[in-house]
Parts: sequence; C-alpha cells; structure tokens
Amino acid sequence: MEPTGNKSGKKKVVAVVGGGLGGALNACYFAKRGFQVQVFESREDIRAAKVVKGRSINLALSHRGRSALKHVGMEEKVVSKGIPMHARMIHSLKGNSFALLQAVASLGACQIMKVSCKSFVTRFLCDFSAAAEVYPNTKLNFDHKLQDWNAETGNMTFVRADGTKEHIEADLIVGCDGAFSAVRKQFMRRSRFNYSQTYIPHGYKELTMPPIDGDFAMKPNYLHIWPRNTFMMIALPNLDFTFTCTLFMPFEEFEKITTGDEVISFFQTYFPDAIPLIGAEALKRDYFRLPAQAMVSVKCSSYHIADKCVLMGDAAHAIVPFYGQGMNAGFEDCIVFEEIMEQFNENLSEVLPEYTRVRVPDDHAIADLAMYNYVEMRAHVNSKWFLFRKYVDNF
Ligand code: FAD
Repeated sequence: MEPTGNKSGKKKVVAVVGGGLGGALNACYFAKRGFQVQVFESREDIRAAKVVKGRSINLALSHRGRSALKHVGMEEKVVSKGIPMHARMIHSLKGNSFALLQAVASLGACQIMKVSCKSFVTRFLCDFSAAAEVYPNTKLNFDHKLQDWNAETGNMTFVRADGTKEHIEADLIVGCDGAFSAVRKQFMRRSRFNYSQTYIPHGYKELTMPPIDGDFAMKPNYLHIWPRNTFMMIALPNLDFTFTCTLFMPFEEFEKITTGDEVISFFQTYFPDAIPLIGAEALKRDYFRLPAQAMVSVKCSSYHIADKCVLMGDAAHAIVPFYGQGMNAGFEDCIVFEEIMEQFNENLSEVLPEYTRVRVPDDHAIADLAMYNYVEMRAHVNSKWFLFRKYVDNF
C-alpha cells in the first residue's frame, strides 16, 4: 500500500519505541500517513535470529484486532495463517469433554482466530515488520534499548548490546514498549499522572502437546479449557499441529510441586486426559523447564505528554490475558488514533489530548473485563457447563 503523504506537507519524524505487536502495527499506520517512521526495538531482529528467546504465547485475534489490521491491508495475511476457534471445549475431571459455544460463554459471538506464534516476539511480528519495511519512509532499528528521553526536546538515548549509546531526536515518540515501559518512566515523574499496577496471585506455565500421527491430538477449532475453580489449564492449536497448553495457577500451588512424580500425580487428579496427550515423560521434564510467569494489570492516565509523546498497547494498558484482548486492544489503539488524526488534520497538539480523552475509559473497561473473565473461565464456566451435562450421554 502506498503512503498517502503527510497532510501538513512536513515529514515529521515519529519514533515508535518497541517493535512488538503494537509497535509494528503502529509503524504501518504512521508510515501510511507519510511520516518518517523509525522503530526502535531492544531485541535483535528475530527474522535473522537462529534461536528465538522467550515464550510461545498463543494469541486469540478477535474482531477488534482484525479491524485494525484491515486498515493497513494486513488482515487477510494474518488470518490466513490462523486457526479459527468457534467454541470452547470444556474438559471434565473425569477426562470427558464438551463443547460450549462462545456466545453461551459470554465471550461474544464473533469468530475468534488463533494466530500462529513462535515466541513472545512472534512470527506475527515478522509479518508486521516486513510490512513496515515495505514503506520507504520506515526504518527498523533492532538492538536499540531506550534508556532515557527528554519530554521537552524529544531527545532519546538508546543503548546497544555492545554498550555504545545513540542519541536520536523525534517530533513524536510513540511508547509501545510493553507493560514495563521505559517511555512511561518520564510520565511517572510528572504531576497529575495516575498510575496503578496489580499483580494477580496466579502465574502461568506453558506446556506443549505434540501431534499424534501427524495430526492434532485434540479437536483444533476450539479453545480447550480445564476449569478447576481456583486454577485452570487452557490449550490453543498451532499451525504445526501442536497445542500450547497454559496452566494458570496460584504461585504457591506451583511451588508445592517439586518432583516429576508430583507433576504426574497432580495431572492425574486434575487433568487426567492431558497426560497421554502431552506424554508423561515430556510433562515431567517440561513442567520444570521455566519458572511460572507473573501477570500484571496496568492502568494509567493520561496517555500523552503535550504534543510530544503518546503511550499505546501494553505500555498504556497491560491487562491480564483471560479475555484474550491485550493485543487486540493495542491494535484498536491504532485505529482509534488514526480516526482522531483524521478528525484533527494531524494536529498533534489536539490529537494527543483527544486520544487520551477517548481511549482511557475504554482501556480501563477492558482491563476490568479481563480481570472478571479470570474468574469466569476457571470457575463460572463450570456451572454453565454443569447445566449442559444432563444432555450428554457419556457423563
Ligand atoms: P509487547 O508485546 O510487550 O512488546 C513490547 C516491545 O518493546 C518488545 O518487543 C520489547 O522487546 C520492546 N521493548 C521493551 N522495552 C524496550 C526499550 N526500553 N527500548 C526498546 N524496546 C523495548 N492478547 C490478545 O489479544 N489475545 C490473546 O490471546 C492473548 N493471550 C495472552 C496470553 C498470555 C499468557 C499473555 C501474557 C498475554 C496475552 N495477550 C493476549 C496479551 C498480548 O500478548 C499483549 O497485549 C501484547 O503482546 C502487547 O503488545 P505490545 O506491543 O503493546 O507490547
């Protein structure tokens, strides 16, 4: 897609800090408008990396995210690499399973795609990065970690892996550097900036369920859930016929399991059908591969400093993953910003305050919904499921 050109006639420099999901999509939006876009990502370029560090988080892409992708011509490209998920598949303690429609499960009736991911910085990012580089006015700078920046001048200091520093100036800084944003640190020093963060008592661990005879070990077009009231496991399909299983559990419960035999005994009690599918030996080994990861919910306001800087994605609103909307909300940030840019003719001193005004209440609402769905998925879903059980012969 050709850039439309900057309406003001002046090619302003936009620095997008963070080349994750939100940053890469933002770069496409700004580039399409003809801005000079520079993306600064602290990690190396994963398209060239032989080994990709990090976790393999599966991402559900919903209508909210798809609309934002569509605007820059990315929707079909991403969706064609995804697996549609039509419903939830609930797994009982006895090892039986039962499909529960998304609409019944109050997740919303629209189709949700599971998009293929290789690591936390995903293959998805590769697609975006490639698209961002298609625009001639866009440059991706990997191995550039933002150390500090000046809200008055827009001067940023980046540190490279070899310790060297680079000073870069931009007209607009877009903070897309995730839940622990370095861009946000400047906001924290300012008066009347509201900020709160909440760690939930649960952590998560990922396990892989391999294919059986070259095919999925379970039905692929479902979000598989093993709801156990105070904890749960979910599984999402990958394009390579594996499933990524994510076990969400209070940290103290994770800590109680210290040996391979205890892992098996725990799974025999709570997820018996998953043991042969994951494999007992793999389970014993993989459970201890990485420590359980924490989950944080971040709310803040405002999202901007003058006409100089704006926060988007997790940097502005990290949410717990139970609503499957963190990335989607970050993508929606792009389209909301785009609409306001159009409305105010790219006048950043009007656009940025309006963006804060419009976006903060919606992001806070989705953070609350995600927190609510934390209980819905591991506990409430059990009672809904119970209502359906009488219709199923084999229970
Ligand atoms: P990030 O993905 O965190 O990217 C930030 C980028 O900034 C990174 O690449 C990082 O290296 C870089 N960076 C950090 N600091 C600096 C610095 N100082 N200088 C330069 N670069 C820097 N969302 C969904 O919509 N659907 C789901 O199904 C879903 N499932 C999830 C499951 C789990 C277990 C978790 C934890 C999250 C899930 N999410 C989901 C949320 C989703 O992963 C995030 O909302 C999304 O990754 C946020 O994107 P982002 O670009 O804002 O931030």
